[in-house]
Amino acid sequence: MLELDKVSKWFGGLPALVEVSFGMEPGRVTALIGPNGAGKSTLINCISGVDRAQSGSIRLAHHPIEAMPAHEIAGMGVARTFQNLKLFARLSVLDNVLTGLTVAAERSFAVSMLRLPALRHQERQLRLRALEALDDFGLAGKANWPASALSYGEKKRAEMARAFVGDPRLVLLDEPVAGLNTEETAQIARHIRRQRNAGHTMLLVEHDMELVMDVADQVVVLDSGRCIACGKPEAVRRNPVVLEAYLGRMEATA
Ligand code: ADP
Ligand code: MG
Repeated sequence: MLELDKVSKWFGGLPALVEVSFGMEPGRVTALIGPNGAGKSTLINCISGVDRAQSGSIRLAHHPIEAMPAHEIAGMGVARTFQNLKLFARLSVLDNVLTGLTVAAERSFAVSMLRLPALRHQERQLRLRALEALDDFGLAGKANWPASALSYGEKKRAEMARAFVGDPRLVLLDEPVAGLNTEETAQIARHIRRQRNAGHTMLLVEHDMELVMDVADQVVVLDSGRCIACGKPEAVRRNPVVLEAYLGRMEATA
């Protein structure tokens, strides 16, 4: 589904990604872990076209996408959530999710926003689909609220609904449970499991190792922009290099 080959990215003279290579099978969940500043968000930005790698190749279903603009990549069925939420504050929750459907129809966020008036006259089907997605994420009752009125946890779920509404081929989730309480985390974890069981291919950036071990088929570990390990969750968890670079450090600070 996704194939990264020696993807590198610098900011100024500083390397954020150094020849990162790994592949993702369809219908599988890959967890991307690593300490803060490891390059996880940068990698998601490069895959989704929000940012551009300076070298290396990124293929989606054998199609090179590394030079494509973000809206075209979205049009190919790549959806994402952002580490720092990106909802349209003044739009209703439902309209925010509707932009996910127009993105799926090969339009950028900005363009889809401009097209919302036209969308309103389109098939009720789109709205029904958006409502269904909101229902999936426990937000149907707040469809007509302005997005700004949602709690932080609800905003995270609204972003998830927007990412999943267009039935994407690949979903990139950047720290979907960061900052959430235990109950909200369990709720999102249930959603992620359900999406996995429905056969969605996901790349999940996550610090919650319990969630990672539970949902991931494959774990990729980044450290200072380098992929230091890649494999099955249990193997990665026992990998001494990973323990040294990441898990040990986390335990030391816990
Ligand atoms: P992570 O998501 O793993 O915490 P990031 O991908 O956000 O890490 O960051 C990786 C590195 O790239 C960090 O050193 C960060 O400071 C740097 N970086 C990220 N985005 C930018 C940017 N827009 N400009 C300059 N440096 C950046
Ligand atoms: Mg990040």
